[in-house]
Amino acid sequence: MSDNTLRNLASFGENTEKMPVLFVGHGSPMYAIEENEFVSEWRKLGASIPKPKAILCISAHWETKGTFVTAALKPPTIHDFGGFPRELYAVQYPAPGSPELAQKTKEIITTTPVGLDESWGLDHGAWSVVRNIYPEADIPIIEMSLDYTKGPKFHYELAKELSILRSKGVVIIGSGNIVHNLRLVAWDRMNEPDFGFDWAIQANDQIKLHILNHQHKSLIDYAALGREVSMAIPSPDHYLPLLYALALQGENEKLKFFNDKAVMGSLTMTSLKIG
Ligand code: ZN
Repeated sequence: MSDNTLRNLASFGENTEKMPVLFVGHGSPMYAIEENEFVSEWRKLGASIPKPKAILCISAHWETKGTFVTAALKPPTIHDFGGFPRELYAVQYPAPGSPELAQKTKEIITTTPVGLDESWGLDHGAWSVVRNIYPEADIPIIEMSLDYTKGPKFHYELAKELSILRSKGVVIIGSGNIVHNLRLVAWDRMNEPDFGFDWAIQANDQIKLHILNHQHKSLIDYAALGREVSMAIPSPDHYLPLLYALALQGENEKLKFFNDKAVMGSLTMTSLKIG
């Protein structure tokens, strides 16, 4: 291990004030470059929380067999989508990685082996949001993957093991969408602000109520929450990052919703900040 690595590992040894945890509804990749009310809230976040030493992001868009963290020094900006305007493909988010934080994360997680990944970088679930929160791209960022072979309870319990990072200057961000059904998107109502189908709004409200009442067990067993929630979560990828954020909520720790609106009928942008 180089001197530099040792020094940086030590930098994640010192305690800091407890950093907040975010769950951000990311919506369309176009929000990375568009001006709208959601993006404007993302921008305010950067100023409203203490400057972190690093960011750990759990994005809906990195699913793997097994759990991995990005360990590259310079994570590439991945344009993991098709059919968007050329200017979106031109976006680069050149924030550094943090092999030290990747190593630290690997060490603190005991429920499952964690692999260090040098091939992935930042997918749009991470960069479309983070480039608005931290436009300077000066805060090191790593991603942790979602193991698609595991159920929600596994993810919730794994997330709890990340808790110590909050006192080491790390902001943890889950990036997904609470209601996310691409098959039912109303493409013709794309630019209508705050348009959600009844079932989507009901599912969003139901999940919010469970969050407010700290009913995490019901949120882990979301498949039993009824028809609307099943329509809202046809696959777990965009929902699981929410469970990561909730698992990190301390007893009596305050939680605030923002961007609590629906778009395109079958997506909600509902986001939250813990701490
Ligand atoms: Zn997405």
